[in-house]
Amino acid sequence: MSDSTHPKLDFIREIIADDLTAGKYATTITRFPPEPNGYLHIGHAKSICLNFGIAQEHAEIAAKCHLRFDDTNPEKEEIEYVESIKTDVRWLGFNWGDDLYFASNYFAFFHDCAVHLIKEGKAYVETQSAEEMRASRGNLTTPGIPSPGRSRNVEENLTLFARMKAGEFKEGECVLRARIDLASSNMNMRDPVLYRIMHAHHHNTGDAWCIYPMYDFAHPLEDALEHITHSLCTLEFENHRPLYDWFIENCPVPSKPRQIEFARLNLTYTIMSKRKLLELVQGGHVAGWNDPRLPTISGLRRRGYPPEAVVHFCKRVGITKFNGTTDVALLEFDVRDFLNHSAPRRMAVLDPVKVVLENWSAEPLAAAEVANHPQNSDMGNRQIPMSAEVWIEREDFMEVPEKKFFRLGPDRYVRLKGGHIIRCTGFEKDAESTITLIRAEILPGTVGADSPEGIVCKAAIQWVDCATGLDAEVRIYDRLFTVEDPDGAEGGFLSVLNPDSLKKLTAKIEPSLASVEPGFSCQFDRTGYFVADSIDHQPGTEPVFNRTVALKDSWVKKGGR
Ligand code: ATP
Ligand code: MG
Repeated sequence: MSDSTHPKLDFIREIIADDLTAGKYATTITRFPPEPNGYLHIGHAKSICLNFGIAQEHAEIAAKCHLRFDDTNPEKEEIEYVESIKTDVRWLGFNWGDDLYFASNYFAFFHDCAVHLIKEGKAYVETQSAEEMRASRGNLTTPGIPSPGRSRNVEENLTLFARMKAGEFKEGECVLRARIDLASSNMNMRDPVLYRIMHAHHHNTGDAWCIYPMYDFAHPLEDALEHITHSLCTLEFENHRPLYDWFIENCPVPSKPRQIEFARLNLTYTIMSKRKLLELVQGGHVAGWNDPRLPTISGLRRRGYPPEAVVHFCKRVGITKFNGTTDVALLEFDVRDFLNHSAPRRMAVLDPVKVVLENWSAEPLAAAEVANHPQNSDMGNRQIPMSAEVWIEREDFMEVPEKKFFRLGPDRYVRLKGGHIIRCTGFEKDAESTITLIRAEILPGTVGADSPEGIVCKAAIQWVDCATGLDAEVRIYDRLFTVEDPDGAEGGFLSVLNPDSLKKLTAKIEPSLASVEPGFSCQFDRTGYFVADSIDHQPGTEPVFNRTVALKDSWVKKGGR
């Protein structure tokens, strides 16, 4: 694969290099902190490549990247997601070694930090309702108004907080707030909530807690506890950084991590929010989180995207401070580029029409010999059984050939890949004028040889032997949405679903394809890249192939549709 990655460091890598040179840290420790409330998507892959990538690049100083499940919200999290996230990170080629953590294991520490803040007079129990709190928080031009709870003394706050923890209050009756600055121009600093009451069962801690920390409070503490040096997050947290730093300054933490923000990945024709992906899954618009049309890592894997291509794409997109949207065609280009080099070639016919080779007995060929890759002879050749009837693509025949059409037509010549040159001697049509059969003759002596004098044969086409070829289900996937920005669609993203995003065909495949293992990836000659479906493909009995990507970008041809 061509490597267009620029050797220049991005701004985050530059900061880290400078910090290391200045001796601020002996090494660098990053983390990837997913909330286990859904499957990972390609946006997460960008963050994974950044965080784990930095650790790999500094292996000589034992740099590390932690995998930390940010499982502080008991309501939406499930073990199924934890397992899928681990699988996806590994599939991308990264390894957290022994550094696997769960934020829920730090609940006691978060609680101790809250008590510390109360004792320092920097936190108080709030008994106003959520609406009252919102109303008294002010806005950009008006400072907030202190609530009665703000002046409660330390003893009272300690008692109330202990009672919150003991389950004496209902959800919403009170919260713990930081006492920071109600006049701050940064709304995040106007006495943010630290703890809320949730009478919910947690997948790890069970019913041990009924108070749960807010993300903004827990996250810096998690980072500090794990001695993270650089805490990399997406741009929407930029305004939260002063709060992140305030918690690090004011809580008894063992280290001082630094938060740095970068632009998240957005792709055209794609939605990336877990909430919306969940809606597609639960609404039955797709066949699960690993549907090959989704941008989830498990969907990309099932679609046949090689992890190397995904990682290469993430590198190419790069790390910046500016939000933008990347053309999904760029990702498809990387997939095509990688598969062009790595995928062996096979023959399949997606829209078959039968060709009868009427003089086959003149020079019958037991098997055609075909190269497995046109440029890579290391991949060797294979023998494909051949006989007097073959399937070819309907589009490789034209009754009245256009200019520049070099394939089969009445009295024209074409080569059956690895076999003879044939000449079309006739054809049959049904009542609807659909071609039902093509008649042809082989030209003896043309296997492995150039065209004889006076014969124009400019193309070789794929074919499948009728006697030994098999039927396979082939799933042609296209983009899930018809518009570039489904999030911005007036009727919502569900109103712009592409009705043609999945077409199922019964194709003819060469015999070797029937027995391949699920996940086997190849190019169907002249058609596209395909992968044996990881769930439904049954080797030997029920072959099922997914189209990973077409050979060319058909959306460019169609002018984006
Ligand atoms: P979503 O918004 O899709 O629901 P999230 O940010 O809530 O995602 P988390 O599980 O919190 O999901 O994300 C884990 C990490 O992945 C975070 O550090 C987050 O910043 C990063 N991340 C999530 N989406 C993207 C994206 N599109 N581009 C880059 N990084 C992302
Ligand atoms: Mg999140």
